[in-house]
Amino acid sequence: MFPTPVAQNIMSMYLPVDPNSHHDQLIWGRTSTGIYTVKSGYYEAINLKEANIASSYGNSTKSLTEAGWKKFWALKLPAKIQWLIWRAVTNALPTLSGSNKRVMQLSAVCMRCSVGIEIVQHLFLDCIVSKRAWRYSPLGFDFDKSDGSSFAEWLNDWILTAPDLQSIQFSLFMCWGIWLARNENVWEEAVVSPVEILRRAQQYFQIFNASQHGDQRPAGLTESTELTSQVLPGVQIHVDGAFNNHEKIGAAAWECIDQYGRCLHCGSCTFLSYTPLHAEAMACLKGLQVAKELGISQCVLQSDNAAVVKLGSKSVALPYPLHMLGSDICKLRDSFALCSFMKVDRSIVENAHKLDRVSPVMNVL
Ligand SMILES: [Zn+2]
Repeated sequence: MFPTPVAQNIMSMYLPVDPNSHHDQLIWGRTSTGIYTVKSGYYEAINLKEANIASSYGNSTKSLTEAGWKKFWALKLPAKIQWLIWRAVTNALPTLSGSNKRVMQLSAVCMRCSVGIEIVQHLFLDCIVSKRAWRYSPLGFDFDKSDGSSFAEWLNDWILTAPDLQSIQFSLFMCWGIWLARNENVWEEAVVSPVEILRRAQQYFQIFNASQHGDQRPAGLTESTELTSQVLPGVQIHVDGAFNNHEKIGAAAWECIDQYGRCLHCGSCTFLSYTPLHAEAMACLKGLQVAKELGISQCVLQSDNAAVVKLGSKSVALPYPLHMLGSDICKLRDSFALCSFMKVDRSIVENAHKLDRVSPVMNVL
């Protein structure tokens, strides 16, 4: 087994002789008794499999090019974000598939989606939670269409081809938001939604920009960010309500579209309802709530329902018993820097209208 000189050295080593000693024997190192059990064998197999997948991914991670690094280091960023990105790019981030796993005996499976192995690329780009946060962001990245590049490869391309420095900065604030949310998930078992990740990233970005340039936000701009108000000068919110008189069920659907026609968010929900106007008003409320959660500051709400659209004027209220709902809509409307309501033809809110129809109306409550 060993070369002759090594074997001779081994054989010449002095070993104390214990009169009670037994012959050498094989023991299983994964149980305290040294005896193999199927359960411990199963866990060892899972661990080895995860480690293999992680290392095969890890090997594909490349660093930034010289031009990429140069542009990266020239960016104005908080030191903690530079540090995070540097560690992510150089594969030095303590992901579950990395060092933590060996020290803490954690599984390498991502705790946010329970599907992927938590390598850097999964954490920031491929995890469904991160994907959604990116998709809702003003950057509108769609990592469903990703070509499988590593995080470093993606970042390098993006840094060198991004339309402006502000977009690159914001994308790195998004990474920071994703990392914090992931830590809350791993260490505090808190679930942070994609919309919340986006909101926080925008907030950090806003605070950082304010500290760099002095706060020059116009009065009335509340939770939104400068990036949002610049990239999204006018988001259109298409809303539509549907009502099933027999079941007394309403459905609300909404779609937020940016100025490039990209869908920032769309969805639908169902609820107990009693009139078509109630369903239309609920759609309006949900549309505004979603826009608010996305950090949008300026929007035009579009509906094909005249009564709902009239709520855009200050002095109009909904008839009893919808007056409280109407008042909530008006409060939400006033919390935007700019928000107007527009009556449009059914064809404009066609997508929201279709979403209404696919709502699981019968699976309600
Ligand atoms: Zn995941």
